[in-house]
Parts: sequence; C-alpha cells; structure tokens
Amino acid sequence: MSAADVDVAVIGAGIVGAACAWRLAQRGLNVLVLERDQPASGSTGKSAAGVRAQFASEPNIRLSQESISEYAAMPQSGYQPGGYLMLVPEHHWVEHQAGVALQQQLGVPSELLTPQAAQGHLPFEPSGLGGCSFCPTDGFVDAHSLTFEYVRLARDAGVTVWTETPVTAIRPGASGGAGWCLETSRGDVRATQVLNAAGAWAGQVGALAGLDIPVRPARRMVFTTGPLHPPRRVPMVFDLESGVWLRSEGERLIFGRADPADVGWREGLDWAWLDPTLEAALNRFPWLETAGLDRRASWWGYYEITPDHQPILGRMPGVHGWLNACGFSGHGVMQAAAAARVLAQEACEDAPFINIDALRYERFLAGAVVSSDIQL
Ligand SMILES: Cc1cc2nc3c(=O)[nH]c(=O)nc-3n(C[C@H](O)[C@H](O)[C@H](O)COP(=O)(O)OP(=O)(O)OC[C@H]3O[C@@H](n4cnc5c(N)ncnc54)[C@H](O)[C@@H]3O)c2cc1C
Repeated sequence: MSAADVDVAVIGAGIVGAACAWRLAQRGLNVLVLERDQPASGSTGKSAAGVRAQFASEPNIRLSQESISEYAAMPQSGYQPGGYLMLVPEHHWVEHQAGVALQQQLGVPSELLTPQAAQGHLPFEPSGLGGCSFCPTDGFVDAHSLTFEYVRLARDAGVTVWTETPVTAIRPGASGGAGWCLETSRGDVRATQVLNAAGAWAGQVGALAGLDIPVRPARRMVFTTGPLHPPRRVPMVFDLESGVWLRSEGERLIFGRADPADVGWREGLDWAWLDPTLEAALNRFPWLETAGLDRRASWWGYYEITPDHQPILGRMPGVHGWLNACGFSGHGVMQAAAAARVLAQEACEDAPFINIDALRYERFLAGAVVSSDIQL
C-alpha cells in the first residue's frame, strides 16, 4: 500500500488529530496525517492548556475526566494538578451546585466551597458570589509536548505524517464510488474515511468537500504579568461573572477574558482588549495591580467555536466515510485524549465508550441549539 492510499486521512496535526491518528492506528487502520504547517502550530500551541472536569453535562465531564487520567499517566504531558477554582455568581449558584453533584456522582473529586474557604487558595474580592467550587485533579498540561508525544506514538504505530502539506480540495468517490480523494501539495490521496481535526479551520475543510460544518474562529488573548513579588502560586481560577481567568505560569501569571464580539479571522494581539480585561480582573483580584505586564510574553490564538460551544464528534450524518473531531470551543486540549478513543471506535463502527449522542452533528439538524454548560 502506498502512503497515498489509506484507510483514514486525518486532516490536522494539533493535539486532536495527533491523538486520533495514534488511536486509529492502534485499531489496525492505515492512517495518514495531513498537516499544512507543523504539529501544534494551530490553536494547540497557543492554548493556556488548562484541563478541567468541572462541566455541567455528562459527556463533557467524562471526556475531560478520561483525558486527564490519560495525561496523568504520560510523563511527557507536563500535567500539573494545581486545581481549578470556580468563582460562581449568585444567579448561577443553584445550577452550578447541580453540576458539581453530577461531577461527584461520576467520580470527579470536585467540592463546593464558601468564598471564605476558597480564599485559602488566593485572595479575592467576594462580592456578588453565591459560592465556589474546586477540583484538585484539574490543572494544566504542556499541550505542545503532548502533541509531539502523540505524533511519536502515532508514527511508532505505523502512521505516516505529512507536515507542510495543505489539503486544497476534497472530492467524494475515490475507490470506485466510496471514499474520498484529497488534493494536497504532495499529490492526491485516496482515503476510505476522512477525519476532520482541523480545529478553527474545520469549517473551511468541510467546505472543501461541500459540507456545512458550523465551526468559526474566535480570537482569544493571553496576557502575561511580570514576576510576582512576593512569589505566589495561583491555581487556574475562573470568575464566571466577568469571564476573567488566571493561573501561575512559572513565577508569572497568565490571564485573559473572552471578548464575545471578537469572532472571525482577525490576526494579532488586540491590545485594546487589555483595559476591559484588566478592569474586570482588578475588581476581583485587586492585588494584581502590582504585578506589571510583560507585553512580549503575551500572545493570541483562535478558539474554534460552534453555535452551542460544544464539540462536534462522530460520523457526519448522510455522508459516507466522514468523521468530525472539531469545534471543541476552547476545550480541545482537555478533551483530546478521550475524544481520540471515541473517534477510533466510531471509525471502526464500535460503540463509543462515552455516549457522545449530545455532541453529534445531528443536533444542528433540529434547529437552533443552546447549552448552559460552563464555557469560558
Ligand atoms: C488563547 C487560547 C487559550 C486556550 N486555552 C485552552 C485551555 O486552557 N484548555 C483547553 O482545553 N483548550 C484551550 N484552548 C483551545 C485549544 O487550544 C483547542 O481547543 C485545541 O488546541 C484544538 O486542537 P485541534 O487539534 O482540534 O486544533 P489545532 O491545534 O488548531 O489543529 C488543527 C490543525 O489543522 C491544520 N489545518 C487546518 N487546515 C488545514 C488544511 N487545509 N490542510 C491541512 N492541515 C490543516 C492546522 O494547521 C492546525 O495545525 C485555548 C485556545 C486559545 C487560542
């Protein structure tokens, strides 16, 4: 078999595509990864790399819980279980407690805290909060290193990885009617199945095949402080009211806040978003005032958002041989490992080990969809 005639062509070598390729190969499939740049050069390498199982719905909790377990067992993951602290406004507190109860029922060691107790993790201004939650196994990883480890595992399992190879066109009907023909800068590839793991570009990749995959890019900024004096370890903290998050990165802090209007292909770090972010951050964490800002260590990247901010996983309905693992909406690092196992099962027509029915493409066919899960 030539590398250009494969069971599955995986488009994208971010953490999702790399992990999927490894899991597909483990199931005996011939896999080719097509990456237009380098592994982790898309959103994966720009991520804040937080991992949390604190979600409100079972599929999201389980995808993260299983992924975190896998990362915890991989020395290359850089997993640091420093915990996630959620600061929850009064109007969301009842709903949030139900989410924590579900997490606990599924075996996640999250706990509810009063704002006073949560101040043991870091000082903050508690006005407007109904309560807090903390999960000690949440934390962060090294998404870049993890992706390269998945690429290594995939190659060892027989996967071919073509970097600097954009897919430029996709036609159905290779192999006598079934399958796909992909045009790439290295020539045509025939594949029985295509797995779309193109992150923020998944909508564009779908369009190459005439498919409507509702994934849009949304720019996100990560601001970096100078070294803290005195030093302070800060777990990943989310203020659900303002959307501000922050965590330690070495002796500094990184922090950010989503701008809901910043949707589309907008390049570069938007410094105009610093003031609204800082204003909200200082209201909650007044001690940040003295931290200073390291402009050169700040960065930006694209979230890959869907209409309900949930991933699109599994087979494309009515389209033979097309699988989606995209639209993670800012949660792709924390869910990639389990999503890859699910997709490999799906590709082999086995039942997924996590019920992903709520995350299938079919939900868009029924009309507008909304989700109340914890987004950020
Ligand atoms: C600032 C920021 C902070 C974030 N923080 C977190 C966090 O704390 N926790 C978390 O879980 N997630 C976070 N995310 C989201 C996370 O980075 C993504 O969900 C995740 O990286 C998605 O991985 P992926 O492999 O699907 O996509 P990507 O890493 O974007 O990979 C897709 C790949 O597809 C390739 N590609 C695109 N088009 C083509 C084509 N035509 N041909 C060939 N290749 C193509 C691209 O080059 C790219 O390498 C954050 C994202 C940003 C930007």
